[in-house]
Amino acid sequence: MNGKWVEHGPWSEALPSRSSKGGKLIAGGYRGILCVMRGDEKFVQKAFHMRVSWVSEQVCWMCCASRVRDSLNLYTYFGPGATHRLSLISLSDFISDISKGCAWIRVPGFQPEMLFYDFLHVFDLTMVPDAAATALVELSEDDSVWPGQSVDDRLRYAHVQFVKLCREQKIRLSAALKCGD
Ligand SMILES: [Zn+2]
Repeated sequence: MNGKWVEHGPWSEALPSRSSKGGKLIAGGYRGILCVMRGDEKFVQKAFHMRVSWVSEQVCWMCCASRVRDSLNLYTYFGPGATHRLSLISLSDFISDISKGCAWIRVPGFQPEMLFYDFLHVFDLTMVPDAAATALVELSEDDSVWPGQSVDDRLRYAHVQFVKLCREQKIRLSAALKCGD
């Protein structure tokens, strides 16, 4: 950011809507270097006026990952050979096809790689619940980890142990977790 209102779009085209401000100082010529933009999906959607989102066919702004079940680019393929890994979006595709246009794509040096999800949303709210549920299914499959005649018995045993450990370690439990107590 060079401290001035931009005069040109990402393709060096003139911006008539900026004709009165283009080239004039912003905030007394305040300058900065854009390295990373981080936010939740809602923030990114609004800031970049995205054409893709978690509910569109294409679910990613970095690649052509798709949520369509029979797509070769299905987003749940994680393997090293997953085809969406080879479909990374270029800067020009991002500007033409992913964002409907915004001031950020006009910042000199902007790259889609600068856009990050915030860690809380990716890890705490998405990966951990999915991974934890998957682990519980596997751990309770038989009685090699937790004793019990059925999956329900084994999960109940695990829950009781979990609550006990939390108490010992003085970790506060939510009301939902306490109720199976
Ligand atoms: Zn992607």
